[in-house]
Amino acid sequence: MLISRMFNKIVYSLFLMWYLLPANTTFAYTRADTLRGSNGPGRSWWDVQHYGLSTELHWKDRSVSGRIQIDFLVTGIPGDSMQIDLQDSLEIAAAFIMQNDTCVPLLNQAVAVKDGNVWWIKFPFRHFDIGHEYSLEIFYKGKPREAKNPPWDGGFIWTKDASGMPWISVACQGLGASSWFPCKDIQSDEPDSGMSISLWLPFYYMDTDIDLVNISNGRLVDTTRVNDDLYLDENNGLDWHWKVSNPINTYDASFYIGDYVHWQDTIMGEKGELTLDFYALRQNEKQARTHFEVTKHMLHCFEYWLGPYPFYEDGYKLVEAPFLGMEHQSAIAYGNKYQMGYLGKDRSNTGVGLNFDFIIIHESGHEWFGNSITAADIADNWIHEGFTTYTETLFAESLMGKEKAFEYVKGQRLNIKNDKPLIGPYGVNKEGSGDIYDKGATLVHTIRLLMNDDEKFRQMLRTMNERYYHKMVSTAEIEEFLCDYSGIDLLAIFNQYLRTTKVPELTYYIKKGRLYYKFNKAIPGFTLPIEAWEGNNKALINPNSEWQSIKWKGGFDLSFSDDFYFKIKS
Ligand SMILES: [Zn+2]
Repeated sequence: MLISRMFNKIVYSLFLMWYLLPANTTFAYTRADTLRGSNGPGRSWWDVQHYGLSTELHWKDRSVSGRIQIDFLVTGIPGDSMQIDLQDSLEIAAAFIMQNDTCVPLLNQAVAVKDGNVWWIKFPFRHFDIGHEYSLEIFYKGKPREAKNPPWDGGFIWTKDASGMPWISVACQGLGASSWFPCKDIQSDEPDSGMSISLWLPFYYMDTDIDLVNISNGRLVDTTRVNDDLYLDENNGLDWHWKVSNPINTYDASFYIGDYVHWQDTIMGEKGELTLDFYALRQNEKQARTHFEVTKHMLHCFEYWLGPYPFYEDGYKLVEAPFLGMEHQSAIAYGNKYQMGYLGKDRSNTGVGLNFDFIIIHESGHEWFGNSITAADIADNWIHEGFTTYTETLFAESLMGKEKAFEYVKGQRLNIKNDKPLIGPYGVNKEGSGDIYDKGATLVHTIRLLMNDDEKFRQMLRTMNERYYHKMVSTAEIEEFLCDYSGIDLLAIFNQYLRTTKVPELTYYIKKGRLYYKFNKAIPGFTLPIEAWEGNNKALINPNSEWQSIKWKGGFDLSFSDDFYFKIKS
């Protein structure tokens, strides 16, 4: 996802609220938070293998009605009931249990009981065998939540383009896919063998007689057009059927319906030919064709640093969207209005960010960090955003060289608020601070500087992507991997930057020809190599939380290298 501009406006008041709270205050989380954010008894015994979603969209009353088949493997002793997430504005009409594709609805009808944003599916699951696969089929309908400020305050977007044509999409990171279809709505369980998404667009409900295009994740399987006078008007329409071959985060499953033009390209990547598909609104085709050209260079750059694009089977798509952007897997949402930077602004305030389109780069970087490597709990989403934000620096480096790229990541530090730690509370579907972007990237950059070996750093990122390809991870696993690979004990660095909001503060004085120095606000064991100089006098110091000293011939007007993230006590 991407950074909210609104965040800046409210951060000061949030900071005050946070500051005024006693240190040991804990927020009260509800039972609903725990149901949504943890792998509870209604979820832990089954593992989603595949989602088969087919839904009908009604433009006129902004509603949906559909069915989903959830294929699941029984991995533990079944509980009394299954937890299916489906948010308040939608309801389950019927649910059936199937095995081996045989559906006996009357015998196998399951009971669905509503409990807030959760439905409990009641069935004698105790008869299920561990290691066997079953299916749950659900029919549902209702009005999905409409987005208030997508993508940050997400949901469905029912709008029109500048030519007055309907333009519909969904962006639901944070809110969750259960805002529009029934699923297990937690990042730790992706459908192992993918998802099929079939959307039926009845002509009757649309405000146009032009066939709109629907783009979804994965590859287009087929389209079916029904336009038969024998049918009532309501039965005429167009069905778009897409298939995702790879595991996918449920919040990444999306669609884009509008008056799109489509063109294709390919690159020869590390795993062979990768198909590229571009979709822009008809009125924007000309500028989009030029603007989207950067994609090829970007994908080669990312493959060089991170390893092969993680979803060759599903291709890479870039799709104009009615919101700023989102990392929808294999179908990246683009809404940066064909501007450079972040809506024409440079988030690093160095000018470097105006040399590329932030949304294309950032959201595509998520294919590696977020979509392929996924944090099991969103409390660890710094792994998604920190590494992805650093892909902006890697791309800047490919365009303008290392010096400019380092200016960029250094500039991003000014956005850090230090309001909350990067790691959020576990098990309650809550992210950490908005600093997961810039402070997360700063942490990745810190590791690179400490390694002081760009080739080893690159191989580390590639190995990380190979080892955790399409896998769920936790902060602890990533910390261990980075320490092992780099050969550096980074634990104090992680604890300082991920788990506290304190910025180490260098303090020093000179007395009788010695320079005394230490870090305030540093946790025990935390240190950084810093160069100190005055005139021709230079020294490398490694301050930590204790006073140290070295011989010092220079004067009092010291300067310090600022590659690392710390402050100097004034
Ligand atoms: Zn992001």
